[in-house]
Amino acid sequence: MNETVLLNDKEISKEIILSAREAIVAMGKELIERKLVAGSWGNISVKIADGVYAVTPSGRGYANQKPEDIVIVDDACKTLDGELTPSSESKLHTAIYSACSEAKAIIHTHSIYASALAAMRKPVPAIIEDIVQIIGGRVECAEYALPGTQKLADNAVKAMNGRKGVLLANHGAVCWGKDLADALMVCEILEKAAQIAIICQSCGGAVELSNEDAEIMHSFYKEHYIKRQRGEEK
Ligand code: 13P
Ligand code: ZN
Repeated sequence: MNETVLLNDKEISKEIILSAREAIVAMGKELIERKLVAGSWGNISVKIADGVYAVTPSGRGYANQKPEDIVIVDDACKTLDGELTPSSESKLHTAIYSACSEAKAIIHTHSIYASALAAMRKPVPAIIEDIVQIIGGRVECAEYALPGTQKLADNAVKAMNGRKGVLLANHGAVCWGKDLADALMVCEILEKAAQIAIICQSCGGAVELSNEDAEIMHSFYKEHYIKRQRGEEK
């Protein structure tokens, strides 16, 4: 029998909650392995239902994380289930979910090259195909705000402008996807683009793509390429 639990007035399958927690724990290890985060920094969330999110705990390393360490919060970042303190960036996650209805998973990284551009408060320029396909142009850098604040969340959502990623000034990056694997892919392609941008800047500069070409590439991605990635189109 499929057992359920009432969270934020929604009856939710315990199996779905456990699988979201397990997927987050596995993704934490993946982020460490891929050097997208280090120590306990960065955070991960999954949308379970409207107003019900699973999020990593604050200040806990990823290596020994257990499914029960993952906290379930509502839109106001109030704990619905779990013992630990939810991520200090929970407001950032819930703000993105409420602004981007397609977002089902979010990863906040402190990856090296994205953070380097963020420290310069510069965007990732539209110079390379894959990231331009995903984002549709530059990956903007949000206005600076202190970590963990509503201002940081608001600035990130504004600079994101519905796109799948944004840089956080003097901090890192945040990306969303239709699931955790998709969000990870965006984080990795963003990090690669940031690295390429920095290499190009140290060698005389790259040529940025036109808005028109960026839009063509983004439309192709949304209309065909993403479906091929999901196995929904041949
Ligand atoms: P938490 O450990 O509270 O998730 O914070 C890490 C972080 O990256 C803050 O921006
Ligand atoms: Zn951070």
